[in-house]
Amino acid sequence: MEEFQDFSRHFFEETGLSLSRQVLLADYSSFRIGGPADYFLEVRGLGDLARAVQAARKFRCPFYMIGGGYNLLFDDAGYRGLIIRNSAAGLRFRPERGCLEADSGTHLSDLVEQALKDGLTGLEFLAGIPGTVGGAVFGNAGAFGQAIGDRVVEVTVLSDGGREQSLGPEKLNFEYRHSSLKTEHKIILRVALKVEPGSRAEILKKMEDYLNQRARKHPPGETPCAGSYFKNPILPGGRKIPAGQLLEQAGARGMRVGQAAVYPGHCNFIINLGGATARQVLTLAAELKEKVWQTSGLRLEEEVIFVPEDASML
Ligand SMILES: Cc1cc2nc3c(=O)[nH]c(=O)nc-3n(C[C@H](O)[C@H](O)[C@H](O)COP(=O)(O)OP(=O)(O)OC[C@H]3O[C@@H](n4cnc5c(N)ncnc54)[C@H](O)[C@@H]3O)c2cc1C
Repeated sequence: MEEFQDFSRHFFEETGLSLSRQVLLADYSSFRIGGPADYFLEVRGLGDLARAVQAARKFRCPFYMIGGGYNLLFDDAGYRGLIIRNSAAGLRFRPERGCLEADSGTHLSDLVEQALKDGLTGLEFLAGIPGTVGGAVFGNAGAFGQAIGDRVVEVTVLSDGGREQSLGPEKLNFEYRHSSLKTEHKIILRVALKVEPGSRAEILKKMEDYLNQRARKHPPGETPCAGSYFKNPILPGGRKIPAGQLLEQAGARGMRVGQAAVYPGHCNFIINLGGATARQVLTLAAELKEKVWQTSGLRLEEEVIFVPEDASML
């Protein structure tokens, strides 16, 4: 107990930021699953984000950074260390660079709304993808054959020494739902995205079209889930096979473990029927993978990120 209070006090002295204790992570995940984090901090500016990360590094406190929590499955046991939730939002149009620059905690919905308002095209496919710009760049989020990495001009990260470091796309190794930021666990501060001048009416039309297509395929907005659970496998020739189709053919429809179930409208969504545990989701996911392996000889890989209680970005 004393140890906990000491850490909070040292952290406050170092950063001026107050930590919350025993915060239920289910409240910060779209899956609505997860036990308590020892410490929790929501940052609203990039300066606070950098200070918090540097303090966690200094005191060797395991930490894990989250954005909107739309692609995560937290552990039933919660998290042993500090969860930093990034709400550092800000948007600037840089006409001289042809870029929209976003602080990493900016919501994608605000980004696409701003682009529409300013008559800037190129980001419409992001309409309807929940989460922050940082989370999207980390996992190279995308839809309809496009991904945010295609638009990245520059990503500013926080170096291990606490300095800002600029990385161009050639350093970020963007691939389908992957970037080198995933393996190197860098903290994303700011992102510059390429945009072009366009007609507002056409931008709006594209956005609405994407949103309508999503509404037809995806579970209704309030359904607790974390998006597509598995990535679409890529065959040696480069062709992607929809994981949902493989799951459907494997007989996934109707499967459930406890309160974790396959969404009947789209077999690549695992949904929480109410009170599901991470253990139930992981067990169901393992059963689904085995079924697809048995029926198609393909190994599915998770797109949703499981955060065990001892995960760390230290
Ligand atoms: C209904 C629904 C539909 C979805 N549709 C799509 C879709 O069409 N396409 C798609 O690609 N995804 C989709 N997703 C998944 C999700 O929206 C994306 O993965 C999104 O990019 C997650 O952003 P986030 O801010 O919520 O990240 P989080 O889930 O909070 O975090 C994801 C990962 O990013 C890391 N991270 C977050 N911010 C930073 C940062 N600043 N620096 C370093 N690391 C960071 C975290 O550590 C974590 O490992 C969907 C999810 C839901 C619930």
